[in-house]
Amino acid sequence: MLLRFLLTCCACVYAATAGKHDAYRSYSVHTIQVRNADDLQLIQDLQFDLDLDIWQYGMAGQRDAEVMVSPEKAREFLSALDENGLTHSILIADVAKSLEDHEDDIAAYRSSRKNRMIFSDYPRYAEVDSYMERMASTYPNLVTLVNAGPSFEGRAIKYLKISTTNFTDASKPIYFMDAMMHAREWVTTPVALYSIHRLLENRRPEDQDLLDDIDWIILPIVNPDGYEFSQTDNRLWRKTRSVNLNVSTECIGVDANRNFDIEFNTTGVFTNPCSNLFPGPYAFSEVETQYVRDILLEYLPRIQLYNDIHSHGNYVLFCYANKTLPPNAAHIHHIGAAMGAIMDSMKLPQARFYLVGNSGLVLYPTSGSADDYAQVVGVPFSYTMELPGYGYEFMVPPSYMDHMVKETWEGIAVSARLARIHYRRRFN
Ligand SMILES: [Zn+2]
Repeated sequence: MLLRFLLTCCACVYAATAGKHDAYRSYSVHTIQVRNADDLQLIQDLQFDLDLDIWQYGMAGQRDAEVMVSPEKAREFLSALDENGLTHSILIADVAKSLEDHEDDIAAYRSSRKNRMIFSDYPRYAEVDSYMERMASTYPNLVTLVNAGPSFEGRAIKYLKISTTNFTDASKPIYFMDAMMHAREWVTTPVALYSIHRLLENRRPEDQDLLDDIDWIILPIVNPDGYEFSQTDNRLWRKTRSVNLNVSTECIGVDANRNFDIEFNTTGVFTNPCSNLFPGPYAFSEVETQYVRDILLEYLPRIQLYNDIHSHGNYVLFCYANKTLPPNAAHIHHIGAAMGAIMDSMKLPQARFYLVGNSGLVLYPTSGSADDYAQVVGVPFSYTMELPGYGYEFMVPPSYMDHMVKETWEGIAVSARLARIHYRRRFN
């Protein structure tokens, strides 16, 4: 009887997990060598007609593009590439299988580690929330936990303010980092959590200046609804989970990183609400982007550096996404290059080198992005980081996280110190 019960349970569990990724059965991801701007444009042009999901935009001569296509559209897509003379190869033959392997990686990793740290894994929203609560109660003299407000589905979006002077010393710059604006970019939240860990729980003598001389705002999950949905239902979900029946009865969610009020709904977007690049019905239609905006505006002019953490591809990107540059572009490039260089010095062989540059030139022109908005409202140094994918892209095995968070922290630390030097020049 017990055996039958156990077998039935196992069958249930198996059935539940076996079907979880079926929506991506026989979807494939293709690597495409990009030779010039025309090749990039071709991929962009095919994107909507063939419902492509661009995992990585190529850079001529530097980076291949990576594009996911459905089994129904694959033949047409590959024919279009062939007709235009593009060289391509298969990166992932069956995305569902790859997602199943990813789950197996995570399960094996967890069973092999007795004491897993929260930043060495992919913690759920509730775990991140309780970690932040614990940091606030353990370090009351250094930490203020702020609830920005509820997400669309009602999850509290919280951030930590870390300061030795309770944010009252205007001579200190503020470093504002956020993560998980795009739900499927799971590696980003651990980097934010590790930064908290290094500033509080594991602060080293040589890093005392980072705490004494800088105030920090760290928001580990901008888009908790999307993140939870990517954990429970659709691993490759990118957008928020807002429902707006005036916009669409069929598709939900908005690309949060196209929803900011900067050249809103002009380039690098699709007005179809079913697109992954749907910018929303109007700028700041999403509460999640409103909270990021409100932090930026509340703490100006002290926010010296904004770091919006994404994945994947190894990029440090700066403004503006329409290919123009802010007046302090040389300094912005200097700090971005220092970040890229120190992270490269620790890179794993599987990782690419960081590319540093203007987001519109290095990747592609867009509109409504968080980093552009921060720069235009007055943050002197505004970046988007794209963390490594190690060839797994969004599905990085958690065994890489110990290394990734340490490597990225070095980039964050060097950018904080350099930004602080510029802040002193601004005010002295
Ligand atoms: Zn992203």
